[in-house]
Amino acid sequence: MNATTQSTTPSAVDDQDASPAAVPPAPTFDDLGLLPELLRAVKDNGYTHPTPIQTQAIPIIMAGKDVMGGAQTGTGKTAGFTLPLLQRLARHASSSPSPARHPVRALILAPTRELAMQVHESVVTYSKYVPLRSVCIYGGVDIKPQIAELREGREIVVATPGRLLDHVQQKSVSFAAVEVLVLDEADRMLDMGFIPDIKRILAMLPKERQSLLFSATFSNEIKNLADSMLKAPQLIEVARRNAVSETITHRVYPVASDLKRSLLVHLLTHDEEKAKQVLVFVGTKFGASRLAVYLERQGIAADAIHGDKSQQQRTEALEGFKSGRIRVLVATDVAARGLDIDDLPHVINYELPHTAEDYVHRIGRTGRAGKQGDATSLFAPEEKQRLADIEKLIKRQIERVEISGFAELASAPPERAPSNRGHKREHLERAREKARERDRALTLDGNRPAGRELPTPAAHVPRLDPRLPKLDFDPTKPYVNKPGGAEIAPEKPSPTRPQRPVAALLGGLGKK
Ligand code: AMP
Repeated sequence: MNATTQSTTPSAVDDQDASPAAVPPAPTFDDLGLLPELLRAVKDNGYTHPTPIQTQAIPIIMAGKDVMGGAQTGTGKTAGFTLPLLQRLARHASSSPSPARHPVRALILAPTRELAMQVHESVVTYSKYVPLRSVCIYGGVDIKPQIAELREGREIVVATPGRLLDHVQQKSVSFAAVEVLVLDEADRMLDMGFIPDIKRILAMLPKERQSLLFSATFSNEIKNLADSMLKAPQLIEVARRNAVSETITHRVYPVASDLKRSLLVHLLTHDEEKAKQVLVFVGTKFGASRLAVYLERQGIAADAIHGDKSQQQRTEALEGFKSGRIRVLVATDVAARGLDIDDLPHVINYELPHTAEDYVHRIGRTGRAGKQGDATSLFAPEEKQRLADIEKLIKRQIERVEISGFAELASAPPERAPSNRGHKREHLERAREKARERDRALTLDGNRPAGRELPTPAAHVPRLDPRLPKLDFDPTKPYVNKPGGAEIAPEKPSPTRPQRPVAALLGGLGKK
């Protein structure tokens, strides 16, 4: 691959920092040469100015060139590839009912059902005035309606790889007329073990086509994949590689792992800002369910979202979160992938992720489109290496904020408490007990001032949400990840494991 670097236009935030005299007039959508039908749809959607990635990507894609796009979620990359793609296909638009007049012309692959649905929603939004047909194909639901739609003829197919291959097997889809391929969130495809499926799909596509690859991060594997699928691509980057939005404030709170949930409740009940809507990341599906139950027990409306939940449960959780019925959504990395929740101000990492790239993905949920965001991490001593890796990747030191009663314990993990220094151990034990007391003193509504009567044991019986699956653990016991590794295997599947069950598991979430 011989990539040509387009330009590294600064982000919208950087633009604001520049002096007015130095800033050329911001381009508008009208300047980009889009068809009137597309401009009308963009205006209906309330957008006035293209985002930096749109300004760069739209003319290049309209010119038929291959693109390797480095853009995190929240940059407007979906419209950045959807609008020019629709422009290129507009010449095929036909109101004929004949399926033969609507072969698949563009294939957009996304790692999760939820992201596929979001991309498809964009396709539907922007193709409002262009008679092109589209369909969204994902697993975990009845395949028959999808077959029926494909048989009617659809120019644009947005799909997750596993279910698309099921359609190939059923011979319900033909790629013979595909002109454009889009691989969205390629790094996540790699993480989720989808690359073999992608390669199988690539082998079935016509060689003469335009290919676009988008990824928030670029590992060597992604570069190899780009080499195999792109021809003389233009490289478009809107943020520094592996960079995070400048509008996000990062903080870590040192704490012993067995006190993390107390600290989380403390933050959620004492910080007015965080009391609103928070996405909390944990490393395992088990941990997500357990933490959501614990928060509910403390009177904090919470739900969990992960790969073991049914589609309906995930849709309900996401909708509850978006509507404000649920304050805290506890999610695993895979389940939260691609969530586009407008104005999400806070992300809390209950556990730091295993890979620094996942930190970038997680906090990409906040600080979108130049808005202020807040990324808080609960940091246990055994996560020191993970924090160092994150700081190296994002090229900045994250502020440590010490909260009395929690931070002291973070310097001495329980298993390593010095046995021959009685006074220090006593002090730590007292602090630990104080923190536990504070935890116990939280009432079911989470707001009772300290010092008031403690709830009776009966009142402490967890109020389980009937929608939660049957638990195979005791939610009244603390959940502690073992140092250096999760209690159970993290959700992220191994690339060497069979792909299809993972694809089925990852099924999707509700529409926005
Ligand atoms: P994406 O990065 O594609 O997930 O988009 C992130 C969010 O930005 C979505 O909610 C879009 O609706 C929104 N968006 C996309 N383009 C624009 C634009 N030109 N102006 C304002 N918002 C936009």
